[in-house]
Amino acid sequence: MGQISRRDFLKRTGVTVAGLTVASMAGVDLKPVRAQVTRIKLEVRKGKQVPSVCPYCAVGCGMIITESGGKIINIEGNPDSPVNLGSLCPKGAAAYQMVDNAERQTKVLYRAPYRDKWEEKPLDWAMQRVAEKVKETRDKYFIDTADGKTVNMNPAIASLGGSTMENEWNYIHQKLMRSIGVVYMENQARI
Ligand code: SF4
Repeated sequence: MGQISRRDFLKRTGVTVAGLTVASMAGVDLKPVRAQVTRIKLEVRKGKQVPSVCPYCAVGCGMIITESGGKIINIEGNPDSPVNLGSLCPKGAAAYQMVDNAERQTKVLYRAPYRDKWEEKPLDWAMQRVAEKVKETRDKYFIDTADGKTVNMNPAIASLGGSTMENEWNYIHQKLMRSIGVVYMENQARI
């Protein structure tokens, strides 16, 4: 028998085997599930595999994205990644749903003050509105001096980041926020 790489081993066993074993112990008929898993695995092997990084958080788990016929058909952990060694947390493991999900919201929804209905709006409209509101709030609440000292701050705006923001993004974001006087900033999803 030829050498089997660590990655191949994990691809052939791993989560699939663990899931099937638990279900089998519970007396569930697994024949249709096995057939479906085999079909998916075969399809995935035929596809083009591209290494990538999970976009959800700063852990930066390695992923393998499989493409076939111009469509993403599978996303799973990359066993070659020293960060996650092939595993993914539940969020990362569900990343495929970002691509293939009829329920995913792809349009801007706006609910005007005192209304009970959401309206669809173009993305450009939403960006413009956010910019106008930031400028309006900045101009209205900016404090340049307090107790005779220069403070140049704006206590009316806070910035809440996300864990996907990496160093470079955080650096630019800090510059932008400080330039309009923001002092309340959080750039990680730990709230
Ligand atoms: S969300 Fe989960 S899978 Fe994605 S990088 Fe973070 S820990 Fe890894």
